[in-house]
Amino acid sequence: MVLFPGSTIGILGGGQLGRMMALAAARLGYKCHIFDPHEQPCAAEVSAHFTRAAFDDGEALRRFAEQCDVITYEFENIPVEPLAVLGDKLAPSTRSLEVAQDRAAEKRFLESCGVRVAPWREVGGVADIEAALKDLGSPILLKSRRYGYDGKGQSWVHDAEEARQAWNAVGQQPAVAEAKMSFDAEFSLILARGSNGETSAFPPTRNQHEGGILRTSTVPAGPEIEAMAVEAVAAAKAVEEALGHVGVLTVEFFACADGPIVNEIAPRVHNSGHWTIEGAHTSQFEQHLRAILGLPLGDPSLVAAGALMENLIGPDVERWVEIVAARNAHLHLYGKGEARPGRKMGHVTRLNPTK
Ligand code: AMP
Repeated sequence: MVLFPGSTIGILGGGQLGRMMALAAARLGYKCHIFDPHEQPCAAEVSAHFTRAAFDDGEALRRFAEQCDVITYEFENIPVEPLAVLGDKLAPSTRSLEVAQDRAAEKRFLESCGVRVAPWREVGGVADIEAALKDLGSPILLKSRRYGYDGKGQSWVHDAEEARQAWNAVGQQPAVAEAKMSFDAEFSLILARGSNGETSAFPPTRNQHEGGILRTSTVPAGPEIEAMAVEAVAAAKAVEEALGHVGVLTVEFFACADGPIVNEIAPRVHNSGHWTIEGAHTSQFEQHLRAILGLPLGDPSLVAAGALMENLIGPDVERWVEIVAARNAHLHLYGKGEARPGRKMGHVTRLNPTK
């Protein structure tokens, strides 16, 4: 089914991803309705409608569904059960959410698709951490199964003595332990899939993290990553098909000596795809909308020889004055209030960067 311009797109979550999606929707003549529990989410500032309610408020969700023609989400930490009232208006479906919001379910699912992940164990207590150290070798990375992002809810464990401390650090919640992967680089692949099964991949993007938070994304990603692109696209396609995913899916990889290993998936647009706004013929936000609206997918190729996206995190945002004055710097500010350390305040994309 094709939804025509003038239709209303509901977005669960009102952060910067929702904001950039709403801006892309406006350009194509669609209206957005943001659903978020916070008082002034930055996506609501650029959208026609806003419902402030908790993600498990069934009555608010039911009313929201009545007012939207299609509903999507901009982050995955939303309780799944209450979303049943949205029926088949939700895209991607709750299946993609369920898999992506639990690291153990995610890894089991990826393995069932024939996709390689780091060796891992499920952890329910200190004894499991000690056993994982023996099985996987030292060190291991303990990650909470749910509600982890940007390196939160993670702790390295080198020996049995650190096991208790790590268990406390992840909040004594169900977790997974992963072997430490040795990799030359990290990259992500953003793949859109329409309801007719058509898929379209953006070029792989090289990502550099600092303290667990994405710092820069670069395309082209370089020869060693590009050599892995065919395998990475095949893996992302297998995942999308097995999920019946409609919309954009992001797969994050480690570029290891023996090929790509999946770190995690996100059933949505992603920070590592922000360069596509100016750097690709179609942005990841428009591509996601095209997929869920039943429109043909757009051209994902680069418009320039290369692009570099840099996040403005916390106090970095003060550099906006110098960035806005620079040639070839596309500044995006998310309109957030306080520039707390670690908070993503904006980003800048440079085409054909010289460094
Ligand atoms: P995540 O929250 O899973 O994306 O992890 C945040 C960052 O921690 C990743 O981008 C990697 O830089 C690092 N990391 C995660 N898992 C592993 C692993 N198994 N081995 C080595 N580094 C990892």
